[in-house]
Amino acid sequence: MVSDAQHYAILIRDSVSGYPRCQFPFEHFCSWILQVHHIIARRFCLELGLPIDEIDHPHNLITICDTVHYGYVHPELHILNLPENLPYKSELRETIIQTNTEFAKQGKPYWNTVFNDVFQKIAAVNTQIAGSRGWFYPDRSTVWISRMDLSVDKNSVRLVDDKQ
Ligand SMILES: [Zn+2]
Repeated sequence: MVSDAQHYAILIRDSVSGYPRCQFPFEHFCSWILQVHHIIARRFCLELGLPIDEIDHPHNLITICDTVHYGYVHPELHILNLPENLPYKSELRETIIQTNTEFAKQGKPYWNTVFNDVFQKIAAVNTQIAGSRGWFYPDRSTVWISRMDLSVDKNSVRLVDDKQ
């Protein structure tokens, strides 16, 4: 999980005229509920033993809406986000996490990898453009950056952690 400051930094990087935007480049019914997605899934990277700085690197993070995140990329996340009081929710969650971890241990991606390439290119381009305008990516230990506070209205975006 990226830090809050890193989370906002990615939203700011992926903004147009000061507003974070879903970066999915294909036609879809955009929900505008924005989430920061790990392009190469976090659990997968951890099982590979990659360092956290690489996992949470801006080139591995992209802003997408929950329609794309749950519908196209991680269908299992939809289940993880169902209401807590749903029958069998916790059992289902455990099973999904175990299955994903098992896939990761075998080096097999457990998400839809079809968009990895285009996501990585968009993340790299956005990072470069934002960088040329003075944007920077905070390290994990940065608690808050006041400039970020001014750039994004915290109430305009719903934050949902990408725990995968
Ligand atoms: Zn969208």
